[in-house]
Amino acid sequence: MNEIRLAGGCACGAVRYDCAAAPVIVAHCHCRDCQRASGAAMSTVFAVPRAALHSRGQTRSYATRGDSGNPVLRHFCGECGSPLYSEVTVLPDLQFVRAASLDNPVSVSPTMHIYCDSAQPWGRPLDDLPHFAKMPG
Ligand SMILES: [Zn+2]
Ligand SMILES: [Zn+2]
Repeated sequence: MNEIRLAGGCACGAVRYDCAAAPVIVAHCHCRDCQRASGAAMSTVFAVPRAALHSRGQTRSYATRGDSGNPVLRHFCGECGSPLYSEVTVLPDLQFVRAASLDNPVSVSPTMHIYCDSAQPWGRPLDDLPHFAKMPG
């Protein structure tokens, strides 16, 4: 049996999570909200079935608006501020997790760049992965 276990948490250790399901999406996101939250040109995220992700420790959150105009709830550690998860209202079965929060970040492999419409000229990807202007369908 090939058990998948993705574990990680915030920088200070107050929030920890683990997930027993494989990611369904792994992407470099260039949207402005990820840029603001990370302070970097892009944020690498993976999506897993929400029911498979178990976390402990208190997060805080704020809402931004997705493409549809519906809220995206962005969770971070209230102690250290590390960005951790996003809940996209229109994709209620998925939880988007910041890949850099993994204990072992090489356990996920990004397959695409998304929201390239807002990519920064100083943050151009160095790889040949497919590019999408927004979120692919
Ligand atoms: Zn923390
Ligand atoms: Zn984003």
